Amino acid sequence: MAEHESLEYGKADFVLLDNVSMEEFMANLKLRFEKGRIYSYIGEVVVSVNPYRAMNIYGRDTIEQYKGRELYERPPHLFAIADAAYKAMKRRSKDTCIVISGESGAGKTEASKYIMQYIAAITNPNQRAEVERVKNMLLKSNCVLEAFGNAKTNRNDNSSRFGKYMDINFDFKGDPIGGHINNYLLEKSRVIFQQEGERSFHSFYQLLRGAPDSLLRSLHIQKDPKGYNYIKVGGQIKSCINDSADFKAVADAMKVIGFTGDEIQTVYKIVATILHLGNLTFGVDGDVTLIENSKLVSVIKDLLSTKEENVQKALLYRTVATGRDIIEKQHTEQEASYGRDALAKAMYERLFCWIVGRINDIIEVKNYNANVHGKNTVIGVLDIYGFEIFQNNSFEQFCINYCNEKLQQLFIQLVLKQEQEEYQREGIPWKHIDYFNNQIIVDLVEQQHKGIFSVLDEACMNVGKVTDEVFLQGLNGKLAKHAHYTSRLKIRANEVVGFIDKNKDTLFQDFKRLLYNSSNPVLKGMWPEGKLSITEVTKRPLTAATLFKNSMISLVENLACKEPYYVRCIKPNDVKSPLLFEQERCRHQVEYLGLLENVRVRRAGFAYRQTYPRFLQRYKMISEFTWPNHDLASDKAAVKSLLQVCGFDHDVAYGKTKVFIRTPRTLFCLEEQRAEM
Ligand code: ATP
Ligand code: MG
Repeated sequence: MAEHESLEYGKADFVLLDNVSMEEFMANLKLRFEKGRIYSYIGEVVVSVNPYRAMNIYGRDTIEQYKGRELYERPPHLFAIADAAYKAMKRRSKDTCIVISGESGAGKTEASKYIMQYIAAITNPNQRAEVERVKNMLLKSNCVLEAFGNAKTNRNDNSSRFGKYMDINFDFKGDPIGGHINNYLLEKSRVIFQQEGERSFHSFYQLLRGAPDSLLRSLHIQKDPKGYNYIKVGGQIKSCINDSADFKAVADAMKVIGFTGDEIQTVYKIVATILHLGNLTFGVDGDVTLIENSKLVSVIKDLLSTKEENVQKALLYRTVATGRDIIEKQHTEQEASYGRDALAKAMYERLFCWIVGRINDIIEVKNYNANVHGKNTVIGVLDIYGFEIFQNNSFEQFCINYCNEKLQQLFIQLVLKQEQEEYQREGIPWKHIDYFNNQIIVDLVEQQHKGIFSVLDEACMNVGKVTDEVFLQGLNGKLAKHAHYTSRLKIRANEVVGFIDKNKDTLFQDFKRLLYNSSNPVLKGMWPEGKLSITEVTKRPLTAATLFKNSMISLVENLACKEPYYVRCIKPNDVKSPLLFEQERCRHQVEYLGLLENVRVRRAGFAYRQTYPRFLQRYKMISEFTWPNHDLASDKAAVKSLLQVCGFDHDVAYGKTKVFIRTPRTLFCLEEQRAEM
């Protein structure tokens, strides 16, 4: 296994540790990090430690070294796993996926980009123009999505605030012909609020710092972010990010992908509208609620291509149907502010989803004729927001962490559980390995009727006064006895604040109608439900939690039917230092990622397995006793005889229907002998 790599860099594969203990694991991880070896393996799983410095290991020459090679022939690298996924897809027509996990700032997004770059670099040897175009669009889509979906947090200057799963489709030649992006729950509360030291989404600062003066003038936007309430909350206006250059790169990427000029203009108008909305203030005069700075309303109506009175009305009134009557009810000052913020968040979220949808329209494989072109296979890359715990945690952190639990569960099922179960089935002696199965946590959150999401939805259905407090009491009532449920009611009651609101996620219908009635067709197209009049809107929309839960369940189903490859990212310290390996911090991650159990299962296990007939089919020419046919009692006996002749008998186990080979080296030798025949 990567034998050419000197031991001075530690063991390239944790499976080769002398003793599998936390101490040895950590010592090896640390040694490798300090020697600049940021990648290691556990069998086929890549373990990566964020180097926090530019590494000279992603260039063309490195790509060439990994192209078409087997995993164990070169030092551990993301490229090796990307190549393995690509080979499985191309040679065996398997749909594969690469699941990248790790906490916020551990390096998932960077890893996903290197993987995509690798795949782009090794495909399309014939330089077909259409394929080059597709590759270029797939790569450029990252830049656009990051501008609108990433932000500086206290954990990470470029933190993904949405989850992303991207399928790349390949034709029978193995060249990319299209793709599809699924996005998951954008943290839209960031549009109106950021914690101390954080920023809103990059797109706002990019516009302010990078847009030409003429554009800013037409949007009535001034350059200083401090002038905008929504984006100055976190106080982090300056950062190491080059917003101005990024603005140009994003504008260019949108053009390359194929956004029209009108579309790009509308994107800027929406971003600007949100900034203006944040500066709107309301007051009261007697029993009339009014907008204090009505000049802004005029700016907003221009940007939204609608009428001033319509904007005014949508901000101050809501239409309600009571029996047969339709009345216009005036907002209180508080309701008006709530409505304004909800509008800002909803417009941004809708903009983001629309951008993803537009990219999909353009990159999706259309009219693919399987009869002519053969099978269309995919490689999926999953880069989702990492596990996070902040000073204050809210609904978003709850969803993000639930998502990470779900992915851990998939990992456990695929890597740990299935492996053990197969050995049992095949009757191979097996020492059971204990691991923490987090299914119980997943159930706690998502189970029908008694899970946290269900309790939350129930609380939101209540008519009358529903408060976060009531929700918390509901939880305490239902879950008090659960071994993994602790109520923080006494210590940090504020953690539950906002759950009800964020779950209900209400946007007054009047806003939807306002935007639908815009004379800007791009904007109008984003709000099709605004077409419905008040009497036609009957169904209660699904809650945010239910939508998220459903999207996670279908994500996991989708991943489970593909051949999975894993990248497990570790964050070495909290200060973005390339030198510091914080022992405790890292140990904790190794623990909750279940890496030690992973090594144990892998070691007890076998690198390769194959049914007896298939194995013979491939290797029978190696031995005179099996070539061209064998006269032994069974295929199993024939495989035994073959492996004895080759001297590999000690490295294998014979199951009921399959032969199991412990080390890849053996397989490598078999392949060599086969080639010499
Ligand atoms: P989040 O969950 O917050 O989105 P993440 O796991 O996606 O976090 P990244 O954005 O990929 O984290 O990485 C954070 C930062 O760490 C990067 O902006 C970069 O500075 C650094 N980094 C990560 N991976 C590498 C790498 N391979 N080489 C150099 N720097 C890296
Ligand atoms: Mg990320």
